Amino acid sequence: MVLQIVTVPCLSDNYAYLAHDPGTDETAVIDVPEAGPILQALEKQGWTASKVLLTHHHADHVQGLGDVLARHSALVVGAAADAHRLPPLDQAVGEGDQVMIGTEAGRVMDVSGHTVGHVAFYFPQSEVIFTADSLMALGCGRVFEGTMPQMFDSLSKIAALPPETTICSGHEYTRNNGKFALTVDPGNPALISRMKEIDAARSAGEPTVPSTLKDELATNPFLRAADGAIQAQLGMSGASPVEVFAEIRARKDAF
Ligand code: ZN
Ligand code: FE
Repeated sequence: MVLQIVTVPCLSDNYAYLAHDPGTDETAVIDVPEAGPILQALEKQGWTASKVLLTHHHADHVQGLGDVLARHSALVVGAAADAHRLPPLDQAVGEGDQVMIGTEAGRVMDVSGHTVGHVAFYFPQSEVIFTADSLMALGCGRVFEGTMPQMFDSLSKIAALPPETTICSGHEYTRNNGKFALTVDPGNPALISRMKEIDAARSAGEPTVPSTLKDELATNPFLRAADGAIQAQLGMSGASPVEVFAEIRARKDAF
């Protein structure tokens, strides 16, 4: 049975997610930007959280944990590499480790770059990955702690998953990401039409997440550093994809 996913808007532009296994009734919360909306969403569904999966140490992904744990006795899962700066962990994990939600086995992927120790949680049976501030809708997290090649490798690992994979990312940055994407990939018809959908969704106050890997591969410039049109637009035809990625990331930082 596949996991049921609920998107929970938090703070001004963060997302947490609930992942529920209907077979066992087990529910995991992925990231805790703030407790209120997460507790409300759990209550609305009639679900009890038994696990909290943390993607990385930034406050806007962990700071609601205490108040969630006060109401739900959940096990906390996060990166062993970040154990010194995450809340206390019940399960410390790294690349390739298994995390269960009910009967479904997820795989931990190290996706360092935004931070060193950022992990993603991939559930192949349900074809869903929780990427937070690594791969985002039409963008990727700013490279604060890692190196450009490290972030490029992390995104490349996600890009190699099945295209049907659902991408549950951590922020509502999509409209701004898309405006930037059009500056490096202006002739991409898939990007142009996706931007129309994004504008419509945001005007209606709806989230633009989750997205699909298929759409990201077609429109997200950070996954398209090998694309000839983007390279030409940047004056970098024939450059290595990692160099092109670094240039795109630098331009986005200045955008
Ligand atoms: Zn972050
Ligand atoms: Fe964040």
